[in-house]
Amino acid sequence: MIIYVATTNQGKLRDFAAAAATRNREPIQLAPLPGLKEIPAPAEDESTFAGNARIKAIYYSKLSPGNIVIADDSGLQVDALNGAPGVRSARYAEDEGFPTGETLDERNNLCLLAALAEIPATQRAARYRCVLSAARDGAVVAEGDGAVEGEILDAPRGTLGFGYDPLFYLPSLGKTMAEIDAATRLSLSHRGEAFRHLLRNLEI
Ligand code: IMP
Repeated sequence: MIIYVATTNQGKLRDFAAAAATRNREPIQLAPLPGLKEIPAPAEDESTFAGNARIKAIYYSKLSPGNIVIADDSGLQVDALNGAPGVRSARYAEDEGFPTGETLDERNNLCLLAALAEIPATQRAARYRCVLSAARDGAVVAEGDGAVEGEILDAPRGTLGFGYDPLFYLPSLGKTMAEIDAATRLSLSHRGEAFRHLLRNLEI
């Protein structure tokens, strides 16, 4: 059976495909939703990951009648910031009017460090969250949720990964997400966990 994913991000597709490959039931074929680049994106204006994932899944499933279409929303939640940057993770520095940093990721990371400047190491718990929504013909048919727990460092470490990975420390490994190889990162992935959860809920 084929399931369409409403993303053009190859990294995300890889995470989902790897999670799909671990199941021991009928194989699932995952494919990016055809023509996604040409379709105007819906506004993601909900205050939760689940709300935004639902908006996208409902919207894009109407463009592929009869098929299951999956959409995701993910981001970083920092306890000391009451869950921020959360659903605004990609646009955090922009929202906060934070000026410095060469790339979007670097600006977001510097903005996060500034927000946590007064917070001691013992109070820097954080998690990556991913929520997936699957819809068919404009109706949600299943959802899945995944998380990976960590802590935010006071300086970046490592060059692998993307986004907040250089600041996201995994105490059990003694490394940041940007210091671990792709296979280990995949085995911990919040996207992978959300996808396995979604497949269980889809009952396929
Ligand atoms: P989106 O789900 O593509 O909108 O991702 C939101 C933002 O959350 C990204 O731009 C990153 O800043 C952050 N993010 C989500 N997942 C990860 C991850 O696995 N590593 C690092 N940053 C992430």
